[in-house]
Amino acid sequence: MNVYDSARMADVMAPEGYVSTETADDADLVILNTCHIREKAAEKVYSELGRLRDSEEDGTMIAVAGCVAQAEGDEIMRRAPYVDLVVGPQSYHRLPKLVAGAVAERDRSGRSRVIDTDFPAESKFDFMPAAQVSGPSAFLTIQEGCDKFCAFCVVPYTRGAEFSRPVDAVLNEAQQLVSDGVIEITLLGQNVNAYHGDDDGLAGLIRKLSVINGLERIRYTTSHPRDMTPDLIAVHGEVPQLMPYLHLPIQSGSDSILARMNRKHGADDYLKTIDALRAVRPDIALSSDFIVGHPGETDADFDATMALIKNVEYAQAYSFKYSKRPGTPASDMDDQIPEEVKSDRLAALQALLNEQQLAFNKQTIGAAIPVLFERRGKLPNQIAGRSPCMQAVHVTCPTEEAADRYFGKTVPIHITDAFANSLTGTLDDGVAAESTQRESARA
Ligand code: SAH
Ligand code: SF4
Repeated sequence: MNVYDSARMADVMAPEGYVSTETADDADLVILNTCHIREKAAEKVYSELGRLRDSEEDGTMIAVAGCVAQAEGDEIMRRAPYVDLVVGPQSYHRLPKLVAGAVAERDRSGRSRVIDTDFPAESKFDFMPAAQVSGPSAFLTIQEGCDKFCAFCVVPYTRGAEFSRPVDAVLNEAQQLVSDGVIEITLLGQNVNAYHGDDDGLAGLIRKLSVINGLERIRYTTSHPRDMTPDLIAVHGEVPQLMPYLHLPIQSGSDSILARMNRKHGADDYLKTIDALRAVRPDIALSSDFIVGHPGETDADFDATMALIKNVEYAQAYSFKYSKRPGTPASDMDDQIPEEVKSDRLAALQALLNEQQLAFNKQTIGAAIPVLFERRGKLPNQIAGRSPCMQAVHVTCPTEEAADRYFGKTVPIHITDAFANSLTGTLDDGVAAESTQRESARA
C-alpha cells in the first residue's frame, strides 16, 4: 500500500512541476513515506531523517508522510525540528497546497512546521489525478482503514475507519490502467475483502473486472479470514483471471491466542475456509502472516501454530515477533513474552516456512508456467517476472532484442531450477511470445 501511496503522491505533485529524482541528493523536496506497524519500522524513520539532514544541502524541504506521520506528528517535529511538513495518509490530495504553504512559511520566517493529520470529510481519491502507469502490473487501492481492532494492531488508529471506494470509480480507474497497457491489477486494502463499494462486495467487483478486455490477471490483498464469504470463495473457481494465490493471514494457530488477539474466529474456521478454497481451486497457493510471542503465548500455543502451518503447507509467508504498539490493548497486557523466547520461536517458525516455500518452488521444476515479465533482471539479457502463484521467475533471453520483446508480456516458461525465493527457466520453444496467459492456461 505504501508503494501505491508513494506513486500517488508523485502523481499529485507532477502538475506542480515536480518530477522524481534518482537519489534524494538531487531533490528539492524529499517525502519520506513511513510505516507504523511495528516499532522497528517506526524507529527507522528517525535514523533515516538524521541521515537526510546530514546529506542534504541547505534548502531541501523534508516532508514525512504515512502512518508514523499520522501517529507521531508532533513527536516528529520535536525530535526532528528540521522537518518542514508532516502529512497523514488521508490528506495526500492536499500535498500541493501543503508544500506551497511550507515554502511560503519558510520564506517568511526561515523555517516551516506544517502538520496535516486530519481525517478529512472528503475522500482523497476524488481529488487525485489518474494513476501514472509504469509497467504491465499495477496496484489499485479499493479499500482503506479497519474497524476490526485486533488487540496488537495500530491500523485502526493510523488509517482510520473502514472505507470502500465506489465500484464505478474503481472500474473507471481499472479501465484507464488497462488502456494505458496494464495487464495485471492487484486490488489493495488493509482489509480488502471487507470491500463493500459494490452490492455484492469484493466478489461482485471481481466479476465486473473480469469482463475488462486485456486484463489478464487479478489479485487482491490483504484479506481477513472472517471476510472470506462463500460468494468470494466461489469467485476463485469462476474467474480464470483471478490468480491462484491468496494471502490470508491467520497470525496464530492457537484458539486462545486468536481470542486474545480479538480475531473473532478459531483455527478450525480458517482451515474450513482453506478447504472450501481448495475445493473450487485445487491449485490455489496460500500465504499468511504470523505473529510469534503475542502476550500470553505459551509453548503449547506456539506448537498449535506450528501444527497449523504443517497442516496448511504454505507457498510463502511473512512472520514477525510481536511488537508493542502504543495505545493498543495488547501493549497493556501483563503477560508479555521475553525477547529471547520470541527470537527462538521466530527462528523455528521461519525454518518450517522456508522448508515449505522451497518444497513448493521445487514442485514446479519441469513444468511450463505462464510468467508475466515486469522487470529487467540484473544480468545481461535477463528478464524477471511472476508466476500465477507470485513466484519470482528469472529468464535469460538469447539476445537483448528478445529480452525487450518479452518484457511486459505473459510468456510460457519451462522451469529448470527452483530456489527458496525464485525460479529460473527458459523460453518454451515454439510458443509465440504473443500468447496470452489465458491461452496458455487453456493449452
Ligand atoms: N489486515 C491484515 C493485516 C494488516 S497488518 C490482517 O488482519 O491480517 C500486516 C501484518 O503486520 C499483520 O498481519 C501482522 O502479522 C503484522 N503486525 C501487525 N501488528 C503487529 C505487531 N504489533 N507486532 C508484530 N506484527 C504485527
Ligand atoms: Fe490490524 Fe488487520 Fe486486525 Fe485490522 S484486521 S486491526 S488491519 S490486523
